[in-house]
Amino acid sequence: MRLPFEIDLKGKVAVVTGAGGILCSSMAHALAQCGAKVALLDLNEETAKQKAEGIAKEGKIANGYQANVLEPESLKAAHKKILEELGPCDILINGAGGNHPLATTDKEYFAAEDLKGDVKTFFDLEQDGVEFVFDLNFIGTLLPTQEFAKDMIGKQVCNILNISSMNAFTPLTKIPAYSGAKAAVSNFTQWLAVHFAKEGIRVNALAPGFFVTGQNERLLYREDGSPTERTGKILAATPMNRFGRTEELIGSMLFLLSEEAAGFITGVVLPIDGGFSAYSGV
Ligand code: NAD
Repeated sequence: MRLPFEIDLKGKVAVVTGAGGILCSSMAHALAQCGAKVALLDLNEETAKQKAEGIAKEGKIANGYQANVLEPESLKAAHKKILEELGPCDILINGAGGNHPLATTDKEYFAAEDLKGDVKTFFDLEQDGVEFVFDLNFIGTLLPTQEFAKDMIGKQVCNILNISSMNAFTPLTKIPAYSGAKAAVSNFTQWLAVHFAKEGIRVNALAPGFFVTGQNERLLYREDGSPTERTGKILAATPMNRFGRTEELIGSMLFLLSEEAAGFITGVVLPIDGGFSAYSGV
C-alpha cells in the first residue's frame, strides 16, 4: 500500500482489533509499513492470520490472533501470546464494530400505515439486536482498552485510537442503535483522554464518513456501476461531492499517532468526511 506519508513506529507494538476487516486491515498494514510490530486481532481467526501473513510477506512484522472483544478471557489469552511474541502494547486501535439488521428500520420516516404492512418499523426493533450493536461498538472498545492499556502505564508515549463514525454527530436514518453506540464511543474517547492524560497516553478517535468498501459497495453502486439512490443522497450531503479514499483514513490515523505532529492532541474525534458533518443541507 502506498502511504500518504510515513511516521517512525520502529520498536512499537500495535494491537488492532477487527483487523480482519476492510478498514482495520489497511490500518494494520500501514502501521507495519511504518515499522511497528502489529498484532491483528479478530473474532475470525482465519482472516486475522490471512491478513497478517499478507503483511509479513512484505518483510514486515505482523501476527494474527483470534480474540472476541466482548470476552475478557479471550482478550487475556490473546494478550498473553502477544506479550510472548511481540512485546507490550504501545498503540491500541479499537476497530471492531458494526451494525445489525435487527437494529435497523426499513424506512427513513415512520408512516402510520406501516403498522399494518410488512415493514420493520421502530416498534419492531428487537432488544437483542440493539444490545448486540451497543455491546460490539461500546463494550468492544472498553474491554480491549482495559486489557491492553495496562501495558502503557509508565511508558509516557502511547496511543489509543477508537473508531467512531459520522452518525455519532448526527444520527443517520434507520440505524438508531449504531448511531447511539458510536456516540458513546466518541464520548468515551473524551473520557479516556482525560483519565489517562497524566500517564502520557493520548486517546483520540477517527470518525470516517463514507468510504466505498467491499461491504457497502452493493448499497452504493448497482451491478452496472451506476450509483444507487443512497449514493445520490450521500454525495448531495457531502460538500466535497465524493466518497473518501482509504489513504485519507490512513493519513489521519498516522497524523494522530505521530508524537511530532499531534503530541498535544488528545480527546478529539476527527471527522474524515468531505464536510458531511459540517453541512446543514441548505
Ligand atoms: P468490517 O466489517 O469489514 O470489519 C469488522 C471486523 O470486526 C470483521 O473482521 C469482524 O470479524 C470483526 N469483529 C466483529 N465482531 C467482533 C468481535 N466480537 N471481536 C473481534 N472482532 C470482531 O468493518 P469495517 O468497514 O472495516 O469497519 C471497521 C470499523 O470502522 C468499525 O468500527 C466500523 O463501525 C467503523 N466504520 C466503518 C465505516 C465504513 O464506511 N465501512 C464508516 C464509519 C465507521
